[in-house]
Amino acid sequence: MGARANSKIALVLAIAAVLFSCSSNIETATETIKPLETLPTIVSAEPMKPTEVEPVQITDRKYIVEKYSDVSPMKFGERMEGIISGFNPSGKQIALTLDACGGSYDRRITDYLEKKKIKATLFISGKWIDGHEKELKRLSEVSLFQIENHGTTHKPLTSDGRAVYGISGTRGVGEAYDEVMVNSDRLESITGRTPRFFRSGTAFYDDVSICMLKDLGISAAGYTISGDGGATYSKSKIIKTIKGAKPGDIILVHMNHPESDTYEGLVAALQELSDSGFEFITLSEVVENR
Ligand SMILES: [Zn+2]
Repeated sequence: MGARANSKIALVLAIAAVLFSCSSNIETATETIKPLETLPTIVSAEPMKPTEVEPVQITDRKYIVEKYSDVSPMKFGERMEGIISGFNPSGKQIALTLDACGGSYDRRITDYLEKKKIKATLFISGKWIDGHEKELKRLSEVSLFQIENHGTTHKPLTSDGRAVYGISGTRGVGEAYDEVMVNSDRLESITGRTPRFFRSGTAFYDDVSICMLKDLGISAAGYTISGDGGATYSKSKIIKTIKGAKPGDIILVHMNHPESDTYEGLVAALQELSDSGFEFITLSEVVENR
């Protein structure tokens, strides 16, 4: 293939990128899909104003797969337009989020939060539910906790299988749809509530999957502070990291690694933040209070 042909292909791809938006020009798309311009915009150094997406009716798998069948992803990451990464606080507010990716359950963390009446948003993957359905049911009955979706198989949410940290993403829009909706339905059947936020395994997404989530009426949840570095930090590093939180931050730690220092570091850091007047709110409150 000659250089001219290559540049022609590059031009076509560039035009396609400009033309592509969350509301692609498929005729069957209805007015219930909000156009891309209404997505929250991330401005560097300024926290974005999160917008919980209004529920829409387009949850049909076939429709979603057809809509994005010819669309190639142009972006991949954990910070991009459409991902809630921080918020504009009312006072000293922080959102604490706990990921349950799979494996074990460090119940000391949720016991502590209940004892101290600290609110948190819990992102639960299908892999974790496999061994903890009863515990999930109980956690969903604690009003302090908001249960949200951490994916059916805990993968990056992609339309082309791109990998990060050695974990391959979903390999097509159909698989991405299943990664979201299969676990959503399962969470709903156990907790009685439909999840409204989704955080992918690894918290990485591509732009096509972000658009798909918007169609499904689900908000993509990011974070601003990795409080335990994927449950690898020492106690002192966890304390130092979480203590650095500012109003409007979204802290991510793990509740599925009891062998790690997460519990001890988190408890010490939360005590200090509480003593200095911080309030902890759920992601729904992040959105509803605005
Ligand atoms: Zn995870």
